[in-house]
Amino acid sequence: MFKLAGVLEDCLNAGSREMGIRLSQEKITVFRTYYEILSQENEKYNLTSIEGEREVAVKHFLDSLACVSVLDFKNTCVVDVGTGAGFPGLPLKIFCPEMEILLVDSVKKKVAFLEDLVERLGITGVSVRWDRAETMGVCGEFREKADIVVSRAVAPLNVLAEICLPLVSPGGHFLSMKGPGAGEEIFAATRAIEMLGGRLGRSERIKLPIGNDERTLVLIKKVGHTPKGYPRRPGMPAKKPLGG
Ligand code: SAM
Repeated sequence: MFKLAGVLEDCLNAGSREMGIRLSQEKITVFRTYYEILSQENEKYNLTSIEGEREVAVKHFLDSLACVSVLDFKNTCVVDVGTGAGFPGLPLKIFCPEMEILLVDSVKKKVAFLEDLVERLGITGVSVRWDRAETMGVCGEFREKADIVVSRAVAPLNVLAEICLPLVSPGGHFLSMKGPGAGEEIFAATRAIEMLGGRLGRSERIKLPIGNDERTLVLIKKVGHTPKGYPRRPGMPAKKPLGG
């Protein structure tokens, strides 16, 4: 049996209020189940070093939900590149059921965990894919099809630009979740973003609730098409980042 209320629920209630968003009890129950499954399976799948109800509530669930302060996810098709144990994509989907989400990771056992998790949470409108973003970016099924691509803790921004922007449809957005010192990364990625059909939008510096952790949400708008030839083959964006 899962606990009915505890530290996780308190953090989600207080934290969501502080962030100005409303989490229903029903959604908080889904986050409780997510937490229990993540904790049970963490060792087996090597998913996250963030453990405990307070840490997971703040640094995984609420951190993921911070994305809604810069974009409206309602009725959008979203891809989460390098999702790991589902962050930020799955908390966003729990918060905003009126979106379709594709969770992508290049590690098979993480994808196996996510498939099991999504089934046990009983959420519809979620797909899980074992793939590399570079491969998807040159595949007609995925190239320039997403309204929004999100990504957290996967690569430097100049590398992410090449693996994520090709998936975004013109007019859509790429939202990159970064730490407090994102300025240099943004500067180093400016040329790559432009080359790939993007335009740097606002960077939102936010403070996470309950504690003093800071984040930077970097918003990039897709203003044109990504030129043919990008993304380069898997591994190349990280080996020789564009604009370097
Ligand atoms: N986004 C999650 C989070 O914030 O907790 C996981 C972050 S983890 C540090 C980075 C993940 O990105 C890993 O699970 C890795 O397998 C995945 N990854 C790295 N490069 C990738 C690529 N080119 N395509 C798809 N997934 C990738």
